[in-house]
Amino acid sequence: MKNIISLFVVLLMTQLLIAQTTDPKDTEVWEPEPRIVTPGKMNAAPSDAIVIFDGNNLDAFTDLSGNPASWTIEDGVMTVKPGTGDIQTRQYFGDIQLHMEWRSPKVIESEGQGRGNSGVFLQSRYEVQILDSYKNRTYSNGQAGAVYKQYMPLVNASVAPGAWEVYDIIFRAPRFNKDGIKTSSAYITVIHNGIVIQNHVEVLGTTEYIGMPKNKAHGKAPIKLQDHSNLVSYRNIWVREL
Ligand code: MG
Repeated sequence: MKNIISLFVVLLMTQLLIAQTTDPKDTEVWEPEPRIVTPGKMNAAPSDAIVIFDGNNLDAFTDLSGNPASWTIEDGVMTVKPGTGDIQTRQYFGDIQLHMEWRSPKVIESEGQGRGNSGVFLQSRYEVQILDSYKNRTYSNGQAGAVYKQYMPLVNASVAPGAWEVYDIIFRAPRFNKDGIKTSSAYITVIHNGIVIQNHVEVLGTTEYIGMPKNKAHGKAPIKLQDHSNLVSYRNIWVREL
């Protein structure tokens, strides 16, 4: 009996020793060391960003047929040229951090979905809605910052038409196995004018105007901007690959 008790005491003390590490160094991780990235000033691209649009030209974009993009540039600002169609980046992307600034027209042309409508499609498939949602009621999962027809924004962070708005988007691409079956959904976080409006939402599949999202396998793909016939402008677009 005495032996059993002493064995029990030894076991207990060993457990306590394992559980109660006293040296803080035991839980420090030194390798690898995160690399240094120099932040940009006032939303400018940080040192490791891929600049998509800096106001000079549309070289990073094509139309959907691969021809040079024909949206207009004036004073460092790019604006949808209605009727010329969507544009997309030449470069294909997977997981990214995306910064973009956009502006809906100051002159109010219409209401609802007809007012300052554009959109940013991650991997050409998953739309974060761009819309003038300042005192402009429409369906909630179609207003500015909605993951279109999937998630309404948590709040309406829109500013008045004619003022610049900022989207910072964190996108994790979906994963598919070799049989083309989705093994992990895409996830989207959106910060609109400094306010979290989408908090790591699980994307259900492609953005569809009518019907249910689809989940066909794909790899890296361009970022697409929508021509929805409204004079929406863009500036300062950059990406960090994650
Ligand atoms: Mg749209």
